[in-house]
Amino acid sequence: MQELILRMRGSHIRGLIILYLLVTSCSARVSIPTVSDDPVELLVRREAAQIVAVSEDKERFSDYQIFLSDFPRKDILGMSIGNRRIYISHELAKLASRRASHLWLLRQTLAHEIAHETAGHALQNGSTVFNRGAFGGGITSFDVGLPWNVRFRNYSTDKELEADLRGLGYWEKLGWDCRIWVRILQNFENQNYAGDVFHPTDQRLQQAQRACLAGEKERVI
Ligand SMILES: [Zn+2]
Repeated sequence: MQELILRMRGSHIRGLIILYLLVTSCSARVSIPTVSDDPVELLVRREAAQIVAVSEDKERFSDYQIFLSDFPRKDILGMSIGNRRIYISHELAKLASRRASHLWLLRQTLAHEIAHETAGHALQNGSTVFNRGAFGGGITSFDVGLPWNVRFRNYSTDKELEADLRGLGYWEKLGWDCRIWVRILQNFENQNYAGDVFHPTDQRLQQAQRACLAGEKERVI
């Protein structure tokens, strides 16, 4: 496996940060800024299609809207906001078109985001505590290129871990090696990237290791 030290514009890509967009302003609808990059969009859509094809949404890929975004905060790799709308870091997607290590990170990100959608997490998120300002907490609107009058609710840690597990399930159906998924998280840990309160790297890594090991045992048996 190639090194997975991921650098973007001098910053490490450090994790999957997925959140639920909550617009509390009474102003007109706002949207996360997107960028257009046809070749890269094609790659992302092709990769997403493979994953959706083995998911509960296999008949509904045409409903998926997948956008590229230059998130101001560079450790945001992807976001799902419900109704099968997913935002992917443009930088990650560009790198994925050139390097295998980043392609796998993109595949992990997409599987995780698609899992949020198939699990309906955005629809269940109404009671999640708003987290702005908490230590190690969630993301501000500014982090994703939105005005300050837009607020976010993060998915709970339980939902984040569930999305990882479901995503790993899609990888398995595709015959993609779960050890690559584990290594990505190990690399986060090696970079001392602990994640945030909703994306604790240690818990994500432990869960992935357990799931991967269990899968290997089943295959041997
Ligand atoms: Zn997530």
